[in-house]
Amino acid sequence: MNSSVGFENGLWRLIPKNHFVSMSFFREEPLINWGYTESVLFTAYDVCRSSDFWIDSVIRSGKTLKEAMTDLGFPKKTSMMADTGVFEMEAKKAGIARSLGIDVDIALTNEEIFEAYRLSGADYFVSPDEIIQPTESSEEMNKKIEVIKHNFTDLLDEFPARKIVAVIQGTNRSTITMIFDFYRSHGIRHFAIGGLIPLWRHDKELFKKTLNYVRKITKGNWLHAFGLPILRLLPFYLHKVGVDSIDTSMLLYLSARRRYVVGFEIVPVRLVDFASCECVACSVLSPKLHPRRYDFFMNLYIQNIVEAAKYSENPELARKKKVIAKESQITGRRRQTDHRVESKTPRCHPRLGRLLKRRFRRTQDINMTNQVRVSTQTDANSEPM
Ligand SMILES: [Zn+2]
Repeated sequence: MNSSVGFENGLWRLIPKNHFVSMSFFREEPLINWGYTESVLFTAYDVCRSSDFWIDSVIRSGKTLKEAMTDLGFPKKTSMMADTGVFEMEAKKAGIARSLGIDVDIALTNEEIFEAYRLSGADYFVSPDEIIQPTESSEEMNKKIEVIKHNFTDLLDEFPARKIVAVIQGTNRSTITMIFDFYRSHGIRHFAIGGLIPLWRHDKELFKKTLNYVRKITKGNWLHAFGLPILRLLPFYLHKVGVDSIDTSMLLYLSARRRYVVGFEIVPVRLVDFASCECVACSVLSPKLHPRRYDFFMNLYIQNIVEAAKYSENPELARKKKVIAKESQITGRRRQTDHRVESKTPRCHPRLGRLLKRRFRRTQDINMTNQVRVSTQTDANSEPM
């Protein structure tokens, strides 16, 4: 782990997405007393898609989301990283909705993102980025880089550099170096690499080279990786490449699909001998408990989080396999994605929408996402990886 960067409420290896705004069970026991990891990820998108009454009461109280969570029992020392959730939205746009010919209107403006960030009271804030696809032309890439830079400088007006996680995009050395130098010139010490899932799908070699190059140039700084396409990449990211942290909501979705994580394998629950695991959650799980019951899901989720967190710290432990049926080797290799495609169109929370409108009138803020214009061109394609 990179020890050169560290603050109070610092970041940790595995940063699970905590959907506490849109999913009420994250605000209830046992998850509210979050003791499974020292950092969680929260998304602005989670605020906007939530229609939960809880957020109204938080806004009325004048507290931040983290303060309101702490009142409920969430550990104050657990750091919260706020992200836009843009990848989740992109996945939806590219998923069911698009195949049905539905235009999904779920773009978030910077102002909406920053409003959610301010409301969050988080410890770290991810700069809104644009996913650069490996197949894009240099012209498209340049446009996105300009938007990324504008987003970053806007965020810097809101939060100090030490609280910002700046996202590096690009698939060639000159683009990556240029973006990194730009961030460094603004005093950034926390970096993230984005666009990994499309890159991994496109070209595995380029994916590895890009990751290694970004790690190399960011040496001495914190490096977070956005997106875990398959669970088996966790040791690769953390221990081969030497990335400092990674976020995922995969463990939640796996649990909802009744999948059990053992080491870096994924196994259907019907093949698992729960008694072979000593964790608190597995002592509750038993073949007698119906797998569709809520307490089964909850304990499975906790077991999966605890398991993945443990191996994120020490991958050697994962080699000591527990008692699992033979089919797990086959099932475990099934590719798992880091997101779930939903057909439901999310809407921004009405209360937040009204709050934003008031602020818009007051500050005459501009929707930067749509109005940023490319002013300069960057030589984005000059040097391959
Ligand atoms: Zn267990």
